Amino acid sequence: MHDLLDQLRLLHDTTPVLVAAYDRFDRLRYANAAFRTAFFIDVDDAPTWAEIMRRNHALKRGTVLTAADFEDWLLSTQSRRGKIPYRAFETDLHDGRWLLMTETVSPAGWMLCVASDITAFRADERSVRQDRDRALKAAQTDDLTGVANRRFITARVEDMLAPGGPGGALCVLDLDNFKYINDLRGHLAGDAVLRDFAARIHGQLRRADCFGRIGGEEFVLVLPATSVEEAALIIERMLAVVRQSRPLPQWPDFAYTFSAGIASAGPGHTFSDVYDRADRALYAAKMAGRNRIHVDGMPDPANAPPPAARMG
Ligand code: GH3
Ligand code: MG
Ligand code: MG
Repeated sequence: MHDLLDQLRLLHDTTPVLVAAYDRFDRLRYANAAFRTAFFIDVDDAPTWAEIMRRNHALKRGTVLTAADFEDWLLSTQSRRGKIPYRAFETDLHDGRWLLMTETVSPAGWMLCVASDITAFRADERSVRQDRDRALKAAQTDDLTGVANRRFITARVEDMLAPGGPGGALCVLDLDNFKYINDLRGHLAGDAVLRDFAARIHGQLRRADCFGRIGGEEFVLVLPATSVEEAALIIERMLAVVRQSRPLPQWPDFAYTFSAGIASAGPGHTFSDVYDRADRALYAAKMAGRNRIHVDGMPDPANAPPPAARMG
């Protein structure tokens, strides 16, 4: 047993890892050699954390503080220090080292501090973080058009339908006769039209709206906290914009259109139910002649009898 404690003490005083323990009054009760060296604390000294910070700050050593006023900094830091069971953060020292500091707080209010020197890892870490952010973005983005992909848009629909979620409208947008565009002008022209479409729609979104490509020439528009009537107005405006577009320089007169199905999406609905209704509405819009919208559960104006017939 004694041997274990001796070995632990020896390890603590040879490791470059900084280890310390503060009591519930934030007074230093234990610190290994690495910790005492980094913060200039004599072996028999037991200052409070505030005293350590204050005297090191006065001598421009120990922790680098960026705040303009030390006492302001101390107050705001102490008001948060040790209030959660665990936290980890990066901090830098005046000697140029970067530390990853961890603070573990016991129910009795003692705090264990363990810090590792991460100076050598910082550049790597930064690029790993950037790689991770890039990979995350790629996993949520459609390659061809740059808008959200099926995975991302599906998650946004789930958000809208979640208990306590805002509900709203789900719209499925599908380019009209797209096969002919490909067949007559080639696949590259088809791709250019898809990109143009995505850009036109994206340019008309509000902050909460989400637009994504879920397959070939089929897109989904999620409009949280929006009635189907409002959604219809929004998509009519989008139709007008797309009709005006002339995306192929080789064919200056070339224009294209889309059709859309709209369904209400309330909390408690399932994704497949809402999507199914929007898709059936889309089919109705296609059957009614394309280049138009259809709202699930509403009669299609194009299918209504002409006024003369009604009067007769
Ligand atoms: P409708 O008006 O009924 O929607 O007719 P459509 O021709 O648009 O529909 P259909 O589903 O018959 O054809 C879709 C075409 O979209 C077929 C496929 O070759 C093409 N397509 C799918 N993905 C891409 C893509 O990434 N790029 C290009 N250029 N074409 C694509
Ligand atoms: Mg189509
Ligand atoms: Mg389609």
